[in-house]
Amino acid sequence: MACCGETSTNGDDHGSVASLSRHFSARAYVYDPKRQRILLLKHRQLDIWVEPGGHVDANERPDDAAVREVLEETGIIVRLVSAPAPNFPAGVEKMLVQPLGIRAMSVGPQHEHVEFIYASVAVDGSLKNGEREFDQVRWFTLEEIRSAHAQIPRNVCLWSLICAEHVTSKILAEEMEGMRYDGK
Ligand SMILES: [Zn+2]
Repeated sequence: MACCGETSTNGDDHGSVASLSRHFSARAYVYDPKRQRILLLKHRQLDIWVEPGGHVDANERPDDAAVREVLEETGIIVRLVSAPAPNFPAGVEKMLVQPLGIRAMSVGPQHEHVEFIYASVAVDGSLKNGEREFDQVRWFTLEEIRSAHAQIPRNVCLWSLICAEHVTSKILAEEMEGMRYDGK
């Protein structure tokens, strides 16, 4: 289930308050490198565009949660694009897809989300109509993102551009290694 968190960041509050509810959340910026577009959802109540994402379920890894949330909310199947990580030999340690960042967001009174922010590319699926807390789903061009759209919060714009840059450079690196990019 998604949970909107476009309020103030709370990164320097370590939350010693006993009544604070703190949940893990996985979010993904979805980039279409061919058309240079970012996928966003319009929040029904807040009337702003946000990235897909939501609570990490019990026994679920955050990277799996990000892929699941995007599919549930948008109908799009994504491949996460990892941030740099150490390349250890295979063994007991399994490196997960690395998020672009981890943030703390205050999403209500005594309710904080620790959010894993992933970059991803769309590989399959088709857009579905908005439902529940979102009433629209659509692709935005980078030009639209850069043009300070009144209903796209500043942090969403910045993460969108960071994601686009990261995915573009990663795809270029893959192509240089002779690997084939499987995105659409
Ligand atoms: Zn929550």
